[in-house]
Amino acid sequence: MKFKYLFLILVLFAVGCTNKVEVAEDNTFNIVTSFYPIYIFTENVVKDIPGVSVTNMTQNHVGCIHDYSLTTTDMKLISRADAFIINGVGLESFLEKAYETKNDLEVIDSSKGIEILKENFSDGDNEHIWLSISNAISQVRNICDSLVKLDEKNADRYIENTNAYVERLENLRNELREELYGCTDVKMITSHDAFSYLADDFGFEIVAVIEKEEGVSPTSKEIQEILDIIKEYEIKSIFIEEDTSTKIIDTISNESGAKVTILDAITSGSGDSLDYENRMRKNIKAIKESL
Ligand SMILES: [Zn+2]
Repeated sequence: MKFKYLFLILVLFAVGCTNKVEVAEDNTFNIVTSFYPIYIFTENVVKDIPGVSVTNMTQNHVGCIHDYSLTTTDMKLISRADAFIINGVGLESFLEKAYETKNDLEVIDSSKGIEILKENFSDGDNEHIWLSISNAISQVRNICDSLVKLDEKNADRYIENTNAYVERLENLRNELREELYGCTDVKMITSHDAFSYLADDFGFEIVAVIEKEEGVSPTSKEIQEILDIIKEYEIKSIFIEEDTSTKIIDTISNESGAKVTILDAITSGSGDSLDYENRMRKNIKAIKESL
């Protein structure tokens, strides 16, 4: 008799366990992010809330996602997303295609309410909002506000994580402002127009951009204009990103005598939740050392 009960209990226990696993899988709240910095922001908002997963759609892509096209794998990922978090400002030019994949897709636009700058020396909105710490804070808050509405049962956890992350970002902004104290009237030339928001945050001015459209080399007339600007403002350093083609940069650097400093647009990486903060610190250090 005793054995019979024991057997029954074991069966119930086994069934209970199996059901639990299935329920947990079905209930996972799947968040997909469009782009690396948005992934880092979301990762910090979600932290380790059970049953919530975050996947970065373009994790194998290097550089900004201007002109990115969705792959079949991306579409599969989007089709089972409970929320799709984007940078916004038109950076995700594939958004229409994403809606075709899933017409009831819940898109969270992290740029809501952020003041958008125009691109320097060309038409259109500047999409690189995440490189201002102040904007990053707004993006993190926007992500949190939307997740709280979509996944109400975890609202307290999202808010708690967000408050902690925002505090870290505010401290970072103060730390870097202190680091740059006294660095006034800084004029920058960058390889592509990614750093206007960062410049704005710290009171710098972008006086020229080498590739007006990312990946498109300047004409010889434009190179001459850049050389004139370097001379006019006595610019000591030009700022490029790691993936910038070096031939034209070398020409400009050799002819003007300006050094080349690498800046980081934080467009891909290891996924470490501290990555944005660490790499912004490095950027500010590089700018300071170049002055
Ligand atoms: Zn870009």
